[in-house]
Amino acid sequence: MSCVKFEGGQPLDTANNGLDFNPFDAMEPRAPGKTSKELRNGGRVKSQDVAPKGVYRPDYNILTPNMHSPEYVQVSTAAAITLGVTTGRMYRCSCTRCLNLLLTYPEGCRANCAYCGLARHREAERDYADRNFIRVDWPAVPMDVLIDKVAGDVENSPFHRMCISMITHPRSDDDTVAVLKNWTSRIDPDAIPVSILSNPTTMGREDVVNLKNLGADIFTVAIDAATPEIFDRTRGKGVQSPHKWEKYWEVMLDARDVFGPQKFGAHIIVGMGETEYDVLKLVQKLVGLGGHSHMFCFFPEDGSLMDHLPATPRDQWRRVQLGRYLIDYCDGRIDQMKFDDQGRVTDFGIPRGQLDDIIDAGIAFRTSGCPGKFQDDISACDRPYGDSPPSNIARYPFQPKKKDLKKIRKQLNIPHQLV
Ligand code: SF4
Repeated sequence: MSCVKFEGGQPLDTANNGLDFNPFDAMEPRAPGKTSKELRNGGRVKSQDVAPKGVYRPDYNILTPNMHSPEYVQVSTAAAITLGVTTGRMYRCSCTRCLNLLLTYPEGCRANCAYCGLARHREAERDYADRNFIRVDWPAVPMDVLIDKVAGDVENSPFHRMCISMITHPRSDDDTVAVLKNWTSRIDPDAIPVSILSNPTTMGREDVVNLKNLGADIFTVAIDAATPEIFDRTRGKGVQSPHKWEKYWEVMLDARDVFGPQKFGAHIIVGMGETEYDVLKLVQKLVGLGGHSHMFCFFPEDGSLMDHLPATPRDQWRRVQLGRYLIDYCDGRIDQMKFDDQGRVTDFGIPRGQLDDIIDAGIAFRTSGCPGKFQDDISACDRPYGDSPPSNIARYPFQPKKKDLKKIRKQLNIPHQLV
């Protein structure tokens, strides 16, 4: 059996000081600044107290209404276009298959994660409902309007899944329950299954059990950082944020027990200073526990504490994307792969012909996330361009075509074999 080997370390992305990966030392977030007392905790929105009137499209130039979950939620721009509550077009995509809901409050998220547009330190600069998150605006929609639209024709809904994204807020646990109950009172969760993108910091095992009993299908933990050091630096003490690696794992293991195999998973961001080996070790651990990994490529979000840092070079990203797909869906194993002294994959550990087939199938390079109705390894969560511009796509929100695969092979430095 011959295994594919290739030369790692070809500097294809010169934006990163000639490196083809983001090293730990280069990925230090800047320190959060101070916020004046009157602007803390959504002070501006609460003192103006403007009543919301239906759908609110983020606009930094007007007074942001005082909106709260569970009556209001924010939705991704892609979901808002698909729902028909805003207009717009998405490059090479007609819709998104996942209705992402984000809880919303004037105080916003009380955590301060360094890569996130919703982080607390931004309250000095921009009201919560107006903040960019994962590269786009998130319009706020009354929950009843949203449910009316979907419940009107569940059978023909473009949505294969709904996902409630919790944030770090004292009301987040109760309001997640309220949103879930409201949804399932009108929409059969067997017809459009529900995922929970959890906030472990405020949760206990009983919350996980409760969400399962109320009809949630999949429970995910946005661990985001691949190692405890990077977790602490980007979401813990390093940026005056409350999250703890141990607590995230405690809730992840609760989810494994309560939701069961294939029904729990973790979000991981690639390129925040970990090695390729670190990420794939984590992916292997999750598969060993019976779960999945949902992979994101680091992108310097405007206004975040990491907005001055380089996006993940595409060659690092592609190697991890491919390695993750092999482990998650093709019985690949990290102990059969080889890595260089910088932790980069140099050998995926499977025969070359098999590797070529998997690359050419293209699914490995699509968005990853909870499954929709097509097949297990095709994510419903195909919200486009959350971690890259359309001009240099990281996660493909559609099936990559021949020209895309040619580009991907170049980024991987795995050319087609001459026959
Ligand atoms: S907890 Fe989530 S929403 Fe809040 S700052 Fe961190 S990543 Fe952003």
